[in-house]
Amino acid sequence: MRLLVVEDEKGLAEALRRGLSNEGFVVDVVHDGVSGLWAASENPYDAVVLDLMLPRKNGYDVLRELRGRHVWAPVLMLTAKDGEYDQADAFDLGADDYLTKPFSFVVLVARLRALIRRGAPERPVVLEAGTLSLDPLTRKVMRGDAPVELTAREFGLLQYLMRRRDEVVSKAEILDNVWDPAFEGSDNVVEVYIGYLRRKIDAPFGLATLATVRGMGYRLSADRPPRRPGGR
Ligand code: CA
Repeated sequence: MRLLVVEDEKGLAEALRRGLSNEGFVVDVVHDGVSGLWAASENPYDAVVLDLMLPRKNGYDVLRELRGRHVWAPVLMLTAKDGEYDQADAFDLGADDYLTKPFSFVVLVARLRALIRRGAPERPVVLEAGTLSLDPLTRKVMRGDAPVELTAREFGLLQYLMRRRDEVVSKAEILDNVWDPAFEGSDNVVEVYIGYLRRKIDAPFGLATLATVRGMGYRLSADRPPRRPGGR
């Protein structure tokens, strides 16, 4: 498995090279965005670890240009807590996953292995779950032929759930991935937003695709019959 690490903090880059090599990956490291874009365009990597704030070309531009060149290697983006972008942006621009610095190396390896397992199909730009579709670029959400209007947060939440369609996703994962890392409110906010989404993507269509998995989290699946009245 061959990885590209694009990271300008030399110490971190070197630690990643060592650590990931010890995990059995073949690791190339470059320290700026232009070199990253070039390396990822020229070589077939199984995954790319891409820092957001990079000299010469930032991670978002690298990612956008890669996808524009039809390079579909999975990209895990590294973002900083005080970054000017939020995580929803990382997904919008086609990152497959991201971690906020400082991150746990063990988590990084687990996420990379998961990304590599999923592989790099020529991903459809539009995400789909049954008759529900979401276009990250135009930010358009449709249920069948009917447009669905979402707020930015609802959109971020739905996008995350669609990327993990048919998986049970915990509240903690949702908070980590859809809310600002500095968010310290109650995780009840997730439940509230799940409720908002249901009222927009399911209820008007007589569907119940966004299920509560008791004690575990939520799962978005392809269309299902409506829940029984009063059921959850
Ligand atoms: Ca950086």
